[in-house]
Amino acid sequence: MRPLDFAPPRIYVLDQVWQRPAAARRAEGVIAACPEAEVRTFTCADLPDIVVAEGWDRFPRMGTLDNIPPPSLLLGLYQFDPARVDAIAKSLRTAYQGSGSFPWNVAAGGGAFTFFCSALQELRPNPEHVCRPQWRLHQGRGCPHQCAYCGLGGVIISHVNTEEYIDQLALLLRRNPWQKTWLYDDVMDVPTLEPQLDTLGPLMRFFEQTGDRYLIIHTKSARVDGLLAADAPANTIVAWSLSGATQSRHLEPGTGTTEERVEAAVQCQQAGITVRFKFKPIIPVRSWRRDAEQAVELALSRTRPDNLSLTALMWMQVEQLESCIDPSVLDPEFLQAARAAAADLRGVRVAPFPHACRERIYRHYLQAIRRHDANVPVTLCTESLDMWKSLGAELGYTPVDYVCGCGAGATPGLRRLPTSPWNDARPAAEATGDAVFVRQAEGYVMRR
Ligand code: SF4
Repeated sequence: MRPLDFAPPRIYVLDQVWQRPAAARRAEGVIAACPEAEVRTFTCADLPDIVVAEGWDRFPRMGTLDNIPPPSLLLGLYQFDPARVDAIAKSLRTAYQGSGSFPWNVAAGGGAFTFFCSALQELRPNPEHVCRPQWRLHQGRGCPHQCAYCGLGGVIISHVNTEEYIDQLALLLRRNPWQKTWLYDDVMDVPTLEPQLDTLGPLMRFFEQTGDRYLIIHTKSARVDGLLAADAPANTIVAWSLSGATQSRHLEPGTGTTEERVEAAVQCQQAGITVRFKFKPIIPVRSWRRDAEQAVELALSRTRPDNLSLTALMWMQVEQLESCIDPSVLDPEFLQAARAAAADLRGVRVAPFPHACRERIYRHYLQAIRRHDANVPVTLCTESLDMWKSLGAELGYTPVDYVCGCGAGATPGLRRLPTSPWNDARPAAEATGDAVFVRQAEGYVMRR
């Protein structure tokens, strides 16, 4: 049995997992791939004390730690009865004696499918975060990659009742014929637990049977055996977050390196899987220009990506940037610009780097890409409307019609969205049949 690429110190398994043969088989598969891990069975009532004892409620951005421990695993079951999830989550929160934060709803089995619309109540572009409204699929929450800027360490929650999950997903697809592509996952790197977890293969085979729907797997991992072994490439897209060599080695130490991610993409492409790259998040380290050129050259000489997306590091203030990334590794000019813009960017989602810095990064990437490929679609990801005003003409897209790595309408081979994604998603915003979505702290979730 090939071990995982990281060594979880402990694996907690919900007692009810052992009562379901298919779920138990998944748990046993993961346990067998972690020979050093201590395995503990837990009940829901145990969880609040486990969270406090493990410190999962106080896990910081990983770059702030001198030694980053590998995450433990928490294997549970997705629940599809919202009232039951609410009741479990409420009892967990009530019993919790700490004062940090923890995704109790996910631990309670909630949030298998969430509706994302850039943190807005309505379906319209968020001026600070142009993205695509859509249902997103979740396997759990947490990541082993140890990226300096990320706080998803400490524990990986993964639910293991995949057959039930796929039954519920089939209903969701039927109710949302407008949504052609389905991102899985944006708060967990699913391939890192594969093929032992064995959720990817069943999902890929399910999507292949749908004919016109596509599974999008978002990853930084080079661990693609599970995808290849599924032998169902037709309706799967893999979108790699790809970074330059310095960033991948020193700021994302648990991921595949730039070269390893590209080679994983080569394998997937050869197997018939559509591949895409998001240069995200681009961190302006001292060598970022050369690193960008090398990463682009490698990606475009070794693969034929369906599209490319660009995002500079954002979603934090400059103080947070400097606490999780050693300022001495950053391009001094960009660091100085971020410091100088701190007051103006206070509370702004695209912080810490000001518009002019991010624009320079994107122009550099675009030039590097166009030297190798005149036609591959290149678009912005989760950027501001102002950035679209600066670069839209050069990219050849608008905020409405761009295709991207995990956008709901971006099917393989499509060069431009034919319809507005905000109009397309409208049926999901209304009560359709017996399903609606409602807003909760962690996003929108399905209600019946
Ligand atoms: S690739 Fe598209 S849909 Fe995915 S996060 Fe970026 S802008 Fe949003």
